[in-house]
Amino acid sequence: MLHLAQSMSRLGTESAFEVLARAQKLMHEGRDIINLGIGQPDFQTPPHIVEAGVRALRDGHHGYTPANGIPALREAVAIDLEHRHGTAIDPDHVVVVPGGKPTMFFAVLMFGEAGAEIMYPNPGFPIYESVIRYSGATPVPIALEEENGFAFDAETVLSHITPRTRLIIVNSPANPTGGVTPKQQIDKLVAGLADHPNVAILSDEIYSQMLYGGRQHVSLLHYPEIRDRLILLDGWSKTYAMTGWRLGYAVWPEELVPHATRLCINDHSCVNAAAQYAGIAALTGPQEAVAEMVAAFDARRRIIVSELNQIPGFTCVDAAGAFYAFPNISGTGLTARQAQDKFLDEAGVATIAGTSFGAYGEGYLRFSYASSTQNILEAMKRIKACL
Ligand code: PMP
Repeated sequence: MLHLAQSMSRLGTESAFEVLARAQKLMHEGRDIINLGIGQPDFQTPPHIVEAGVRALRDGHHGYTPANGIPALREAVAIDLEHRHGTAIDPDHVVVVPGGKPTMFFAVLMFGEAGAEIMYPNPGFPIYESVIRYSGATPVPIALEEENGFAFDAETVLSHITPRTRLIIVNSPANPTGGVTPKQQIDKLVAGLADHPNVAILSDEIYSQMLYGGRQHVSLLHYPEIRDRLILLDGWSKTYAMTGWRLGYAVWPEELVPHATRLCINDHSCVNAAAQYAGIAALTGPQEAVAEMVAAFDARRRIIVSELNQIPGFTCVDAAGAFYAFPNISGTGLTARQAQDKFLDEAGVATIAGTSFGAYGEGYLRFSYASSTQNILEAMKRIKACL
């Protein structure tokens, strides 16, 4: 018997990958499966970005890069953030990592230990709760309510702060709900945090370019009063359809940059060089492809929300951002997990149970609409027939 560390029993997972594996297995067996489970753009990375990655390899960029990312990439990130959020960023505060996830892990490892409390959205991206538990800290869920469009409520967050609170994780636009937190709630949260100067904030803004219905993204970078304790997570995966390249970044408070860099050196040394050159091309090249993808998601969003509301037992609030719809399915009499299994096994439609995103996800199902309109319509037809 191998003697595993106790901490391994506390590490969770992201069920989307398990559902993906099940869906792929069924497809290999010849089943016709529509996958609305996995959260990744169904577009290819734009060709000029791919070309930059290929060129970097041909040009001989085969070695290690600085652990925090090549300077030209960090400068491109700073310029892009300044352009999008109107706030100056020091490129030396940017740490490039392989995807969005490492920043979460590093932030939680930096603050999490037995006795510490870390707040996170629930239902929320499952890795938050998983790594909080792994770190030994106590996860404190912030329940997101359908009535609020799944936005977090500043008062609820502030009322959960205790002397043990070290870190608050927020995510808008959100996975799995598509919720977008309005500016007035963010204003309130930031104002309230003035009374808690020792609490750090991790703002996961990986969907910062995917808002619909005229909504504008409000980055926590807008608030100078919390910049010395804000970790801003963003990246290329969603915006540029680059999930497989493994490229992301965070803007860290100056004090934490050396710690984040040391974690990089201990963990992965640096991100592969070609991906970083592709990342520069993504940020500095034409942005039309991003606008086209977002327009396509918006069109599909309207279709899926309208269709979901026509399924007996389903109700779905307007999905404001990201590329997920999160209908309430409690009217079907099925639990989230039963619905997920039934729709995959009987209708050949992969979705993710709301409970995969935390206990408060019971009664909900996540549909990713990063899939063709034709697939979405067919999936809705099959679910109706199945019910
Ligand atoms: N944050 C959120 C809210 C996400 O939904 C995801 C991906 N599904 C990530 C971070 C991680 O992105 P990456 O694949 O770049 O690690």
